[in-house]
Amino acid sequence: MNLQSLQAALRHTLPEGRILTDEPALSAFGQDWSAFAAPRPAAVALPQSVEELRSLVAFARRHRVGLVPSGGRTGLSGGAVAAAGEIVVSLRDLNRVLELDPVSRTLRVEAGAVTRAVQEAAAGAGLYYPVEFAASGSSQIGGNVATNAGGLQVIRYGPTRDWVAGLKVVTGCGEVLDLNRGLVKNASGYDLRHLFVGSEGTLGLIAEVTLRLTAPPGPRRALLLAVDELASLPELLGRFREALVLNAFEFFCDAALGAVVEARGLARPFAGAAPWYALVDFDLGAANAGDAAGLEGEAMAVALGIAGRAVAAGLAADAVVAQDDADTRRLWRLREGISEAIASRHPYKNDLSVTVSRLPGFLAELERVIRAGYPDLEVVWFGHLGDGNLHLNVLRPPGISAIAFRERCEAVNDAVFAVVDRFEGSVSAEHGVGLFKKKYLHHSRSAAEIAAMRGIKAVFDPDGILNPGKLIDPL
Ligand SMILES: Cc1cc2nc3c(=O)[nH]c(=O)nc-3n(C[C@H](O)[C@H](O)[C@H](O)COP(=O)(O)OP(=O)(O)OC[C@H]3O[C@@H](n4cnc5c(N)ncnc54)[C@H](O)[C@@H]3O)c2cc1C
Repeated sequence: MNLQSLQAALRHTLPEGRILTDEPALSAFGQDWSAFAAPRPAAVALPQSVEELRSLVAFARRHRVGLVPSGGRTGLSGGAVAAAGEIVVSLRDLNRVLELDPVSRTLRVEAGAVTRAVQEAAAGAGLYYPVEFAASGSSQIGGNVATNAGGLQVIRYGPTRDWVAGLKVVTGCGEVLDLNRGLVKNASGYDLRHLFVGSEGTLGLIAEVTLRLTAPPGPRRALLLAVDELASLPELLGRFREALVLNAFEFFCDAALGAVVEARGLARPFAGAAPWYALVDFDLGAANAGDAAGLEGEAMAVALGIAGRAVAAGLAADAVVAQDDADTRRLWRLREGISEAIASRHPYKNDLSVTVSRLPGFLAELERVIRAGYPDLEVVWFGHLGDGNLHLNVLRPPGISAIAFRERCEAVNDAVFAVVDRFEGSVSAEHGVGLFKKKYLHHSRSAAEIAAMRGIKAVFDPDGILNPGKLIDPL
């Protein structure tokens, strides 16, 4: 069937106006933030109900055409890219908050709800949804579940998976599965819900998500350390984590700081520059018992003591401590703005993780490999050190094409992933495998595991219509 006939037939599946085929829509919906593959979808579908999702699956099976589930398209690994004539299924218009249950502390939403809207709905009921990151204002909860998004508070609250109490999905067979239905305890066999968390749209279209909520955290403060040696960061993490309840322990290099400061017109936090910085965010009241004011003073005194001793011991070169909420937000801006500040340089990204205890050796080897592999290119390091998660960004120099640049960076990947192998880490901590990390999956997963993943794919998507080409190739 040619493209025009396919588009015409597709128009019968959804009401008028909800199949888009104009060029601007195809380009916008066929791409995510990675921007390394040219978008070329056949059409964009905007379903508004579970029944319409089923119609699209039936259509795809009948016509043997791929469906690319699409959330906020903030993904960084090409998971939502449609570059081979697929139909993009955008969840944009399936975005209602369906039910907030304050007694069970759960929130049921349609998958297209924007992450920030979910956080606000929880806050409206005096509760808290803790998964937070720089793209929360654009990403959707369905996309967060499909990538098992992590973010800035994993050290305290865990990733998205820990907050999924139930999922409604439409599989590649067109069946609707209502998984776990919000239960806390459910020992009735395989928990299929967890197969769909992190499945990157390859097993089913997530239609609804039931999220667990929690009590809002107490007041927080941040402090920023300037650090001379990368190797000092894990030691600092250990010292702060031992004594305080940490919300986050983030790190970034001076090039990252420079990019944010320039892009946002901010002041530099220290008079001089250091190669590395650690942002420590801690709970002012959760560490100890006692009255609130006393607690705040105590946690603050503990934090100041650790920072002072770290400077005295040469682990840190300098420290600035937020005095109030506004100061804390100011320090966070230096970390949160990094991805956006370097976006115009089209970075090639690696998103690696190891267990926290293996960070010292891992960082040392990785730094050596990166220096040797990219002597001529700008490398920007940052990430969630408290979770053992490093984002390595190589900036594209002017005058080199996206493809040539990607090939150049992929030539270094063998050495990078050899280090990941040695330290039993992951080639994707939180961004997902998508299109661009698929060929490296064997560094994180054994042949037996990949075979099992293919078997699971065959059960839920026997015709291979769901996000073809992403994560794994079919049997
Ligand atoms: C500035 C910036 C900062 C970021 N920081 C972080 C961070 O700290 N931590 C982190 O984890 N990520 C981060 N990301 C990456 C990204 O925001 C997350 O991966 C996010 O979860 C993607 O959600 P999305 O709705 O945009 O999904 P998309 O990009 O649209 O899709 C991602 C994947 O999910 C699939 N998918 C989407 N919706 C559905 C659905 N309803 N059903 C089935 N499959 C679906 C897609 O097919 C694709 O494979 C960041 C991105 C940016 C741009």
